[in-house]
Amino acid sequence: MTTGKIIKALSGFYYVKAGNGDIFQCRGRGVFRKNKINPLVGDMVEFEESNPGEGYVVDIKPRKNELVRPPVANIDQAIIVVSAVKPDFSTLLLDRFLVLIESKHIEPVILISKMDMLDQQKTVDIDRYQEDYQKIGYLVQPVSSKQEEGLTDVEKTIKGKISVIAGQSGVGKSSLLNAVNPRLNLETNEISESLGRGKHTTRHVELVEINDGFVADTPGFSSLDFTEVELEDLPECFPEMRQRQADCKFRGCMHYKEPKCAVKAAVDAEEIPEYRYQHYLQFFEEIQNRKPRY
Ligand code: GDP
Ligand code: ZN
Repeated sequence: MTTGKIIKALSGFYYVKAGNGDIFQCRGRGVFRKNKINPLVGDMVEFEESNPGEGYVVDIKPRKNELVRPPVANIDQAIIVVSAVKPDFSTLLLDRFLVLIESKHIEPVILISKMDMLDQQKTVDIDRYQEDYQKIGYLVQPVSSKQEEGLTDVEKTIKGKISVIAGQSGVGKSSLLNAVNPRLNLETNEISESLGRGKHTTRHVELVEINDGFVADTPGFSSLDFTEVELEDLPECFPEMRQRQADCKFRGCMHYKEPKCAVKAAVDAEEIPEYRYQHYLQFFEEIQNRKPRY
């Protein structure tokens, strides 16, 4: 029996990369089928070799996490790409992505793309946002795929991990991955538009190996609603609130209308940016006013 990682799933086959780098085309067999657990890209599995280069997956190792879109297991980080311009940098959109990723207990990383398109005035704004998010504890990396700047930082971030990419359409996700790994050759918007079809029409998911790390070739978190986020979990999705929770007067303080709230005090003292707190309130009310699901 050999251990490996599923790096691609297609038409009932699992492509398993063994420790020595060899790739085996496998079908599923054995106990996990009875348990109705389907192998996912990212799974560590045990497999039996049948013919050279072929085999059967017989067991799946316990997962640390999993996503439905894209269907990937054992994700180490979600790389959120936000563009500096075109579309304009939006802290609201970034905070939405951050909350969705935090709610799945996946570590977010922020990449600010298209830095080459910034004029001086906007550079000042972006610098400030970069500082704000770094202060929260997030890794923030400014990049330009066009001018090939910041790409070695991105390679370092990807190294040795399983990553999914998230971000609005048009922010430069495909361009960035192509810049980091030219062999990848993902379709960018110009190409898909000229062919008259949308991107990512393929249904299979593949982990692409970049710098000893793996990146899912299908972006995640395309739907930005909070239907799966519970209200009581929301403060947990803001690291600067997590850190201050113990200083609030009330246990389980939601930092909403409670008195003696350490989070609101930090907003008043400008230690937490006002916009972050306003977004928190907006999300809070959105989840609170959500219609019951049944
Ligand atoms: P995706 O939808 O997030 O995958 O975005 P694409 O990679 O398809 O890029 C969308 C558009 O932004 C394309 O026209 C790219 O050429 C352009 N673009 C991407 N990255 C950069 C960059 O670093 N600088 C500039 N100037 N344009 C970029
Ligand atoms: Zn509080």
